[in-house]
Amino acid sequence: MADSPAPLPDDARCPCGSGDVLGACCGPVLRRERRAPTAEALMRSRYTAFAVQDLEHLLRSWHPTTAPSREDLAASLAEEVRWLRLEIHSTTAGGPFDDAGTVEFTAISKGPHGRSVQHELSRFVREHGVWLYLDGRVD
Ligand SMILES: [Zn+2]
Repeated sequence: MADSPAPLPDDARCPCGSGDVLGACCGPVLRRERRAPTAEALMRSRYTAFAVQDLEHLLRSWHPTTAPSREDLAASLAEEVRWLRLEIHSTTAGGPFDDAGTVEFTAISKGPHGRSVQHELSRFVREHGVWLYLDGRVD
């Protein structure tokens, strides 16, 4: 298994594209200092986790019924992928008082086989106050 990459400093631009710095955006969620208050915030933190290869955050924010195995996820994170941009198109529900929500987004990355544009409608559920990624419909 690959070593963890050097962590991004808190004053770096957050990979999720919010326009904020990591330390005021996804950083505290990845470090478990703060829970993602909304489905969108969790989605952003998961994009950032892919970008910085935070395997633990991806696993714990994935619903246990749909999560990949640690080995499979580690293998996919080990691929040479640069996450270039995240665009959130729309959300439904997913707020602090909801139990479910959706986020529609496009994630643009560049891997060994070229540039990839992934358009997905993701479903999230909130269990015991914690937002989890359930699944996504990719087109
Ligand atoms: Zn962020």
